[in-house]
Amino acid sequence: MIIGVPKEIKNNEFRVAITAAGVHEFRTHGHTVLVERGAGLGSGITDEEYSIAGAEIVNDADDVWGRADMVMKVKEPIAAEYHRFRKGLILFTYLHLAAEPELTAELINSGVTAIAYETVQEGRTLPLLAPMSEVAGRLSVVVGASSLMAPAGGKGVLLGGVPGVRPAKVVVLGAGVAGTNAAAMALGLGADVTIMDININRLRELDALYQGRLKTVASNAYEIEKSVIDADLVIGSVLIPGAKAPKLVTNELVARMKPGSVLVDIAVDQGGCFEDTHPTTHQEPTYKVHNSIFYCVANMPGAVPNTSTYALTNVTLRYAVALANLGVKAAFDRDPALAAGLNIAAGHVAHHSVSEAHNLPL
Ligand code: NAD
Repeated sequence: MIIGVPKEIKNNEFRVAITAAGVHEFRTHGHTVLVERGAGLGSGITDEEYSIAGAEIVNDADDVWGRADMVMKVKEPIAAEYHRFRKGLILFTYLHLAAEPELTAELINSGVTAIAYETVQEGRTLPLLAPMSEVAGRLSVVVGASSLMAPAGGKGVLLGGVPGVRPAKVVVLGAGVAGTNAAAMALGLGADVTIMDININRLRELDALYQGRLKTVASNAYEIEKSVIDADLVIGSVLIPGAKAPKLVTNELVARMKPGSVLVDIAVDQGGCFEDTHPTTHQEPTYKVHNSIFYCVANMPGAVPNTSTYALTNVTLRYAVALANLGVKAAFDRDPALAAGLNIAAGHVAHHSVSEAHNLPL
């Protein structure tokens, strides 16, 4: 099969869908890989590295799309890419079609087979979303710690304290992938960390893992208020699949927090779990609510494209190689997790969430 990897052209997107290791893997299985010139530069991967791994470097994006049997991307195609869709092409990328009526229509009309990273599902987990939650969870502590510094408007607290000085109090709401990674990072910096979840079994697992170093508390309005009120850093990482995030921290509660406290809402992409959350960008990531600082960047992994590219391609590659080796039908027959990724095929919607979002028949 010929695999094409174009350069991402969405604003501020520096990730790329393949690494040199990925090119090497496809070549080992006898496939051809076309990489658009400069596609990896935003993630620190040079054309030379791709070439040495066996890729053909192609100057023109039209050529990459035109010659490929399967195009691998990171972000959903933008309007400037729609004219490259054609019947029979396999597109493997993040698509988020429920929020993209125009793209959905273009994919249906063009006859592309569109497989979305975010709907590949193994049991109850979404393996191609997890790495981005890992990145956001770990990054939340880095940005939180930096926002706590006085020049950034924070209360001037160092997360780990120093010998003889109390560490900062960090509260993590939601003990899923992002929350667990946030807690691990905050503990690593020496903070006093409390993690809260409605899933007590999850708290049991963390309690057993951390042997008392991490405080676990059942999440309810009473306990949230008690923990948040004197926290230095609050990290919101809750998720109710398919629904908007619950508003767990009210404006009134923020008003009673100590001045210079920091609240990082990772769940901003699902509406956020603080009452005053609104999405921000890497250019202007924070704003003030009462005397606290809110950080609510909706695409946190974009700040660390190098790490994010490797984290993403580590998990996409085996599915992509299966598609290339077996073809779509046989790969789906062998792996229901991958089959769950199918969103559009042969001019029809093939995923219930896309069908429901746009009122289109399956
Ligand atoms: P996850 O499903 O692994 O974890 C969510 C956790 O929230 C679960 O353990 C669940 O029990 C818990 N939860 C639900 N309701 C709760 C409540 N009322 N109180 C406490 N806990 C509650 O999800 P995840 O992969 O960790 O993702 C978390 C959020 O981060 C999602 O909204 C995701 O879209 C978002 N995210 C944002 C970025 C970004 O750049 N901002 C990047 C990646 C992920």
